[in-house]
Amino acid sequence: MTPTIAAISTPPGVGGIAVVRLSGPEAVAIAARHCRVADTPQQALFSTFRDGEEVIDEVVVTLFRAPHSYTGEDTVEISCHGSTYVQEAILNALVASGARLAEPGEFTRRAFLNGKLDLSQAEAVADLIDSTNAAQHRLAVSQLRGGYAQKLKELRTQLVELTSLLELELDFSQEDVEFVSRERLTRLVEEISLGVNALRKSFRMGNALKRGIPVAIVGRPNAGKSSLLNALLHDDRAIVSPVPGTTRDTIEETFVIDGTLFRIIDTAGLRESADEVERLGIERSRKAAEEADIILYVHDATQPFLHAIEDLAQLQDRISSFKEKHLFIVNNKMDLHPVNPTASYRTFPISAKNGTGLESLTESLAKAINRDRGQAPDVLLTNVRHLEALGYVDQALMHVARDLVDGLPADLVAIDLRDALHHLGTITGEVVTDEILGTIFSRFCIGK
Ligand code: GDP
Repeated sequence: MTPTIAAISTPPGVGGIAVVRLSGPEAVAIAARHCRVADTPQQALFSTFRDGEEVIDEVVVTLFRAPHSYTGEDTVEISCHGSTYVQEAILNALVASGARLAEPGEFTRRAFLNGKLDLSQAEAVADLIDSTNAAQHRLAVSQLRGGYAQKLKELRTQLVELTSLLELELDFSQEDVEFVSRERLTRLVEEISLGVNALRKSFRMGNALKRGIPVAIVGRPNAGKSSLLNALLHDDRAIVSPVPGTTRDTIEETFVIDGTLFRIIDTAGLRESADEVERLGIERSRKAAEEADIILYVHDATQPFLHAIEDLAQLQDRISSFKEKHLFIVNNKMDLHPVNPTASYRTFPISAKNGTGLESLTESLAKAINRDRGQAPDVLLTNVRHLEALGYVDQALMHVARDLVDGLPADLVAIDLRDALHHLGTITGEVVTDEILGTIFSRFCIGK
């Protein structure tokens, strides 16, 4: 029999209340040894939780009967007072009565195994729990609730239809007939490939929104790059010092504007060593800028603007997709005696030191990303595992297309088609190994 599992589902530590969750065939029987459980499902009951004779706490017990629960099993949720002692005592009592401690993500794993969620939705639950800003939250909710799963289902249906057309032919293989023209099959394959590749392309945006839009801050030593970073982060996590080369740990620096997460690439590179010539640390800047969607070029306004023009020309030469990136030229140190920039360049005059001009800069950053977002498809791919699987689907489809061109018999084409279906199935979990499940659910916290 499936074991009944138990865990504290609220975060560790003291809180106003805490929830201990129990799921499995024995959930009601085990809970009933310690407190009252409602007779009607989906009902909460005020009760006293006892361990033998000892009163542990006054609790609210909610019953969810299978299959109408998160896991799809009988589930009892015990809301108690949030003392760590009470939480532990309740959990221990339930374990003594026959429950087993749940592993990380085990409730969600059961929900998946019982068909309450597909695998991509289970992963979205983890993303939802991890989300710390509006953009991540929106992505996770959309993955959890629909658009994305719908898109995958459509692709799957198209593939299944294609396979059955071919298999129909196989049934009559003795008679050497073609039920559908090879041209029509080829068109269908192309159509499916288009869908797959649109999803793959959306990963750049999806991933950027999820992990933070990558921003590179570049410019010459002492231009004020670290100061700008500091100002953007609104705190002193970045070390600013007139001595270049101060080392700092490489925690990823992120900041949120208007609900969108931005991520600074290579903050260590902001500190060029003093030995370095008084020029743009070109190699390092190039690398950061290459990875970035947004380049913030910081110019020291007390220096000739020609420096900026030279540096930007160099960057433009060395970065492959420079034109696709958003470039913002920041004219820093406006509080000193600024030299006028060339009129043909749009610059953002700021003083990183005083914080002036920052608002206009951050507003423009957010606007640029919102424009990109507006042009992106509704459904965005955010998960690396899915990206990889879609890559395999695409490969398999290319084989199918080639098979058709080469006039291969239906049974051979069907093999490649089934391969495409297999890889698509790994995303939603129709085809999945214990190993994949293990990796996915180990990301979860205990109690979820
Ligand atoms: P980085 O080498 O480009 O990272 O430059 P830093 O941020 O370390 O700044 C170099 C020096 O310029 C430091 O002494 C900063 O205090 C100073 N600085 C940076 N921004 C401003 C500014 O807006 N106004 C003034 N007056 N000084 C600034």
